[in-house]
Amino acid sequence: MNIAEVVIDVSSNELDKVFDYIIPANLCDKIKVGSFVLVPFAAQKNIFGFVTDIKDNSEFDNSKLKQINSIARDDVNLNSNQIKLVDEMCKKFYLRKIDVLRLFLPPDIRKQKSVTTTISYVKVIDYSILEKFNFRKNAIKQIELQNYLIENSSETKFLTSDLNNLFGNTTVKTFLKNGLLEEYLEKKQNTFAKMAIKNQNILLTDNQKNVVESVENNKENIFLVHGVTGSGKTEVYLTLIKNALEKGKTAIMLVPEISLTPQIYTRFVNRFGNLVAVLHSGLTPVEKYIEWERIAKGEAKVVVGARSAIFAPINNLGIVVIDEEHDSSYISESNPRYNTYEVAKLRINIENAKLVLGSATPSIDTFYKATRTNEIKLLSMPNRVGKANLPELILVDMHEEILRGNTGIFSDRLLTELEETIKNKKQAIIFINRRGFSSFLRCSKCGYIPKCTSCDVSLVYHKIDDELKCHFCGKRFKAVNVCEKCGNINMRNGGVGSQRICEELSNIFKNVKILRLDNDTSKSKDAQISILNEFSQTYPAILVGTQMVAKGHDFSGVNLVGIVDADLSLHFGDYRSAERTYSLITQVAGRAGRSDEKGKCIVQTYSKNHFVFKFAAKNDYVGFFEKELNLREVTAFPPYTKLVRILISSFIEDLARHTVVKVFNELKILREQFKEAFVYLDAMKSPVKRIQNKFRYQILIRLNKSKEEILKQISDIVLQSNTKNVIMFIETDPQNLS
Ligand code: ADP
Ligand code: ZN
Repeated sequence: MNIAEVVIDVSSNELDKVFDYIIPANLCDKIKVGSFVLVPFAAQKNIFGFVTDIKDNSEFDNSKLKQINSIARDDVNLNSNQIKLVDEMCKKFYLRKIDVLRLFLPPDIRKQKSVTTTISYVKVIDYSILEKFNFRKNAIKQIELQNYLIENSSETKFLTSDLNNLFGNTTVKTFLKNGLLEEYLEKKQNTFAKMAIKNQNILLTDNQKNVVESVENNKENIFLVHGVTGSGKTEVYLTLIKNALEKGKTAIMLVPEISLTPQIYTRFVNRFGNLVAVLHSGLTPVEKYIEWERIAKGEAKVVVGARSAIFAPINNLGIVVIDEEHDSSYISESNPRYNTYEVAKLRINIENAKLVLGSATPSIDTFYKATRTNEIKLLSMPNRVGKANLPELILVDMHEEILRGNTGIFSDRLLTELEETIKNKKQAIIFINRRGFSSFLRCSKCGYIPKCTSCDVSLVYHKIDDELKCHFCGKRFKAVNVCEKCGNINMRNGGVGSQRICEELSNIFKNVKILRLDNDTSKSKDAQISILNEFSQTYPAILVGTQMVAKGHDFSGVNLVGIVDADLSLHFGDYRSAERTYSLITQVAGRAGRSDEKGKCIVQTYSKNHFVFKFAAKNDYVGFFEKELNLREVTAFPPYTKLVRILISSFIEDLARHTVVKVFNELKILREQFKEAFVYLDAMKSPVKRIQNKFRYQILIRLNKSKEEILKQISDIVLQSNTKNVIMFIETDPQNLS
């Protein structure tokens, strides 16, 4: 007998196992491991499921087993490598199988039997007949459509859906019935089908050649390309991918969602044409499906996309590239929670491929693995390609500005440089560090930000309770209006918004084009593109924006970058604050001087002497790394310890609290057993106490030894304490502790 193990398409802890089903004789040839099937389950007659294994016998009573109803989709299925990856991910990140399986599928595939990949058009059969056709006088809609078609007779075809929207379905149907219009279907094309391959003959520099050869010839399989902005990393990826394709292999190229701009992916399409599939969040479900199908069928061999592209159904994988590997978007912070680097590592090991990470400012964790352990092989690209120089970083002490009587947003130095840029008809970018915006108090006179008495992190201001809280230990402090450092009475909510900056700039620089790029002005990709286009064609011009302006763009006219509140992200109450700030400054500064001229980056800060700024100004990443690593060792934070967060939430506050106490007590017993390994253990309300009406608590743990072994036990404790109506997640080294 043929038995299939099936995972049911319901996300719940109770159903997080496989169920045995009998494969009916007529489906024996068709059902494979990885098939999508429909099965009866409990009261449901026909529910979606995944076949994860096929075997001869079931340990259960065969007479009680149910049969699979049918195959849900015979055009797609997962392969055995993907099933294996699902298994390993579940173990690694303590996830439910179904949640992981869903990552491998395009959004609508489970809901619909087939996804329409065609578009309906209509065209006018004969204009002379249409013009003469007499409609009844009161058939207003029909006469309108007749006029519309005649007025637009230069169009060869019309989208049926457009006409339906404008004149109503019945009107269009009447035209079809009367032989005035005919309908036909066209297969939807992927956006790039028509783009030509541009044969750019770029000769790699010696440094680039060495990096390519190291990746291809070394027996190691994970590499970090540490190269300054503009050092030619992308050119290295393109060559590695080209070489992989020549060997009959395929590639996945990951970039942070925010930098997945047309500028980036057209570079890949220009090189590989129709072999490229692009997956980004701007695609409609149908567009996503078309790309997914092209990948699954082997038509596309290079997948360019944000983190979820690591799950692309590509076969014969040769290389995975994670560009800007330090970017926080590579960590999934909602269910299923995973770390893209770790997933990529599992995937390349299963498929025997190579993994290349790239960054100008690697995460501390990654650089630690590249210099202190043997997990990653380090390859360096210390210089910019050609004549372009790295920009000069100029630190401006905002504290001094205030003492000199300048209490405005802009330092004198920044204003002078802006004038110079405008005079020379060049461009400038003003960057606003939005992270942590308004979420702390700062003295308006000396710039002091209150810190936790026991953690040495800045306190986060919770407006609702008018309290300051430590996001690490949970300690609370009264928000007072007197600065404890200088005695001045005026503690203010930190941060200025981009809108205000634009207003001030247009007051100072009348008649200069000032553009704004942030979440408010560019909700859609199109809006973003048109703002960037306008900027690239306007001289002089100033572009003001948040994180969006920091990445991926390459404007040759920009010779000045100003960072208004450079230290905002230092005060985010998070052990990664320093590395994030370092990387942000380097990234933003890298927008200046992409051409031959040396650019300038003005960094306005209240903490000029902080080591982050000192090393950033010297462009000394390694120096920064050594200093920061030392701090991590002293304070027992990752990579020296593993930070574990158990997030517990429920609509019923008592229930959440009960569970926290229960888990916490068991963890205390576990700590007794591993006294040496527990550096820290505490339970508290989450900094954000309630999200969508769920009350949130957290338990924080730091381990310095036997990490995997204890983690397993922690996960068991969490699983066993699972109660109805309580949601629990385990995260390791989380990005964000809110
Ligand atoms: P990164 O990804 O490190 O920022 P890029 O690969 O984008 O660097 O290279 C920066 C610029 O230099 C790009 O405009 C690119 O086309 C150009 N470039 C890179 N490598 C070479 C090369 N070997 N010869 C000429 N130009 C190059
Ligand atoms: Zn604290």
